[in-house]
Amino acid sequence: MKQALQGTGVRDLAMARPAVARDRSASRRANLSLVLRLLRDEGPRSRARIAEDTGLPKATVSHLIAELLDGGLVREGAAERDRGSVGRPGQAVEVDGRRVHGLGAEVNVDYVGVLALDLRGEVAFERSVPLDVRAVGPAAALDAVARLTEEASDAVRADGGHVVGLTLATPGAVDMAAGVVKYASNIGWRDVRALAELRRRLGPGTPELHLENDAKLGALAEYVLTSADNVRDLVFVSGQTGVGVGIIAGGQLVRGTGGYAGEVGHLRLVPSDEPCACGRRGCWETMVGRDALLRYAADPGDPVADPMIDLDTRLAELRDRARAGDPRTLAALDRIADHLAPGLALLADILNPRLLVLGGHFAYFGEYLIDAVTRQVHELVMAPEAGGGEIVLSRLGLTGTARGAALLALDAVYQDPTGVMGAAA
Ligand SMILES: [Zn+2]
Repeated sequence: MKQALQGTGVRDLAMARPAVARDRSASRRANLSLVLRLLRDEGPRSRARIAEDTGLPKATVSHLIAELLDGGLVREGAAERDRGSVGRPGQAVEVDGRRVHGLGAEVNVDYVGVLALDLRGEVAFERSVPLDVRAVGPAAALDAVARLTEEASDAVRADGGHVVGLTLATPGAVDMAAGVVKYASNIGWRDVRALAELRRRLGPGTPELHLENDAKLGALAEYVLTSADNVRDLVFVSGQTGVGVGIIAGGQLVRGTGGYAGEVGHLRLVPSDEPCACGRRGCWETMVGRDALLRYAADPGDPVADPMIDLDTRLAELRDRARAGDPRTLAALDRIADHLAPGLALLADILNPRLLVLGGHFAYFGEYLIDAVTRQVHELVMAPEAGGGEIVLSRLGLTGTARGAALLALDAVYQDPTGVMGAAA
């Protein structure tokens, strides 16, 4: 089965705990998971083709599909003429997104948001509210998350679905198992028992809760989006107030021993004495993060630098200026590119990713950054042509993190579909 897995490009996500076939029910769970993930990753297909793709006997596949149909996780799709187009067309089976939903909640420096994805990965609900998270403190931020979560759950239920899990995304280092945000300098959280607090607020009927770092979830969302290209090594660079990195290596999310893997934003990569929220000076994110961009682009008194004005409005204004050819704005973006390149080159040299994906404001202003950054990275890295790697812009916008969080919540269903198949399990 391992070969079939690799051959079909079916991916294990970050939570991947590949089922070990110890007994019949374990092997049934593993096979249900394999078929469901095949349909997610490779799209609708007939039973005959599923058998071919997984290496499972046709009778077994028919059995598994019947169970998944019963559990409401797949449905019959359009007729598919099997490859070669000789003989009877088979009935294609596809993932059914109507019933099962995962939530992704995000706490960031200046907003909190919740997004619901159905099992197919389609957005069913999305809402965020501006909030000065550092100023209001963890309790008020988690109150806001709980309110949005209830709103999302109500919307999902009104559509006849139910929520199977929620992943909370925060900046900084998190202890996933304990549900504790250990240290997130940009929002000022230290040892916050985020999941226990959220569970208390949500009360009875709280779905399964997970906690993960925002850049890692951003990487996960990008990884899922690019799956068709058979990418196994990807690095996502978040562009927020802070700059974190999420690393997928060999198809697995890299966390490191203490969950700190990817905290590149606090390395000193370019000469600087700028104070950082972590208490030190000269961290990379103070030179390439969003505040750095606003600092380079605008003097105090300029509306772009006015924290009382909505951030989206300020960034849109800055983009208008760039498009109008404003020299100060273009110089600020050049400076971001110059400071960004050494960090990306370091990541390229250490990890040799197929894709280096730029998110947040790096993507928002991507048209002004990508050429300069690519050229400089190619000059800096040891391997010719950046070792086959490519720098690309995220297409997920600001919702990438929440999407990754919801995907992680849904991954539990893909790893063990029997958990939501009711009496059939
Ligand atoms: Zn720092």
